[in-house]
Amino acid sequence: MSIPPLLALLVAWSVLGTACGLWLDRRQAAAIAAHRDQVPPAFASSVSLEQHQRAAAYGLARLRTNVVSSLTDLAVGLAALLFGFDLAARLVGSLVPEGVIRSVLILGVLWIAATVIAVPMQAFRVLVLEHRFGFNRTSAVAFARDTILQIMLSAAIGAPLLAGLFLAMRDLHGPWWLLAWAALSLLTLAAPSFYLRIIAPLFNRFVPLRAAIAAPVTALLERTGFRAGALLEMDASKRSSRGNAYVMGIGPAKRIVLFDTLIDAHPADEIEAVVAHELGHLHHRHTITGTLRGIVMLFGLCAAVGFLSRQPWLQPGFGISHPDPSLGLMLSLLLVGIAGPALSLAGNAVSRRHEYQADAFARRMVGAAPMISALTRLSRDNASTLTPDRLYSLVHHTHPPVPLRVARLIEEASA
Ligand SMILES: [Zn+2]
Repeated sequence: MSIPPLLALLVAWSVLGTACGLWLDRRQAAAIAAHRDQVPPAFASSVSLEQHQRAAAYGLARLRTNVVSSLTDLAVGLAALLFGFDLAARLVGSLVPEGVIRSVLILGVLWIAATVIAVPMQAFRVLVLEHRFGFNRTSAVAFARDTILQIMLSAAIGAPLLAGLFLAMRDLHGPWWLLAWAALSLLTLAAPSFYLRIIAPLFNRFVPLRAAIAAPVTALLERTGFRAGALLEMDASKRSSRGNAYVMGIGPAKRIVLFDTLIDAHPADEIEAVVAHELGHLHHRHTITGTLRGIVMLFGLCAAVGFLSRQPWLQPGFGISHPDPSLGLMLSLLLVGIAGPALSLAGNAVSRRHEYQADAFARRMVGAAPMISALTRLSRDNASTLTPDRLYSLVHHTHPPVPLRVARLIEEASA
């Protein structure tokens, strides 16, 4: 039996991708282990050897878990390619007549299978790994509730979207992908307010920012010429001890959200620096240009999928014996995904440049010292490694490693 050519291509690509990923993980593990016994000199006064070694133990444990999940993902991906797609189409096809509902159900079955396999790994990460290092604050019951809610939401949002997509595919033939692009672009634009108003409150409670922090943040907003619709505090502490902050939405209606964990762990000037950093992203229009870039890339994706999915060679090229538009869509996406690693490398590089710009903005607004101490404390409390492998970091990190950010802040402050 000969293996169909496109199938062979994707199998080889998946194996190569996993091998590269594991090789990078090994480099990262070696970089962490090699520096485990000494705190980098720049952090000698702010990070203890014990904290540094805890970060190393945590980083190595995560990398070990990643070996298991990478190999599981590869096995699941190969099983889907080699027989899963065809099996799902055959099973659903034997119960449901050809049409939009059948197509949605085929993807539904594949998604449920993927979810059933992914959930135990995620449970291990949160309830065992994060717990062991003191980050987890959620119980098994709360984790199950979150997971079920997420699954229900994904189904409730995804199924109608897919049905609309398959209807357009069936009735519009050629230009269906243009309509899909327009609809997905609108969704991209509406997603932040939809998320803030409807999704996020299902998972967390948002209350007005406590006065002691609201006052300096309001002063900062005035100083930087920004307006916000709301300053909010989120009860992140019920799930994890990790601190964070985000600014979402555009114009005067935007919301600034601070995790209670950030507020509890940092002095006011550091919180101000973190918010100033987020405002730096707005000042440099990173959010809006990022959204526009996303919409342009979406156009390329939809055009490519529109072209590939109607090619008569596509499904036979993967050895599919029960063709369906849902598999055409899925396989087109997998083929387009070959460009994924290159796009993600470029995207991370842009993102890292933006982080430096936002840091520089914060430095100009609140000074380098609070930004440096905020970054140091975040890195220390989150047990992030201070000694990452350079290549691993280039491939995986959307943010420059904290030592590089701190060095840049010091360098710019003294310039
Ligand atoms: Zn940032």
